[in-house]
Amino acid sequence: STFQDLGLNEDLLQAISDLGFTKPSEVQEKAIPILLESETDLVALAQTGTGKTAAFGFPMLEKIDVNSRTTQGLILSPTRELCLQITNEMKLYGKYCKGLNVVAVYGGSSITDQARDIKRGAQIIVATPGRMKDMISRRLVDISKIQYSVLDEADEMLNMGFKEDITDILSHTPDDKNTWLFSATMPREVARIAKKFMHDPQEITV
Ligand code: AMP
Repeated sequence: STFQDLGLNEDLLQAISDLGFTKPSEVQEKAIPILLESETDLVALAQTGTGKTAAFGFPMLEKIDVNSRTTQGLILSPTRELCLQITNEMKLYGKYCKGLNVVAVYGGSSITDQARDIKRGAQIIVATPGRMKDMISRRLVDISKIQYSVLDEADEMLNMGFKEDITDILSHTPDDKNTWLFSATMPREVARIAKKFMHDPQEITV
């Protein structure tokens, strides 16, 4: 199939063409139609390098309202490097989405600068769990209107001991949001998180 077949809008198709992506990867082919067509939770078993950032990124960019300054999407990832990588990819994918602001939130960098960037109006925040929890407890960010949350590399986040932080962060988001969990493996801990935070998720494996 093509990216057109998946139902993506012109802004995204133009960015995809600029990037030279000729056809969707397997995880994109499986996840994008599900996420575009329904308001659903999703569990995706997928390794890194499979194009999973775009698999959740394209639908999130399509669904958020760029005319609003409210934070609507939250992507949690295990490391600063991954956080920055996802942020860069989201900015590239959303380069024609006028008004879009994607802000990276991670430790080891100025929390006041990150808070300032969020305050200007970030529709999407890409964060590591520790710093995100810190920002919430210091009331530097409002995630009470989140509609889409992504747990990227969920197995890694749990391995790194972020379970409490993730639980705390998600408790500040609405119950009726959609959660999209991506993980390379599905150990018991990940299945437990999925069960606790997700409602009847669709499942895909690549
Ligand atoms: P990820 O698994 O999301 O880290 O993506 C791995 C790399 O593949 C990134 O550099 C993406 O920019 C690139 N990529 C994602 N989707 C596609 C695609 N459909 N065609 C070609 N490259 C892609």
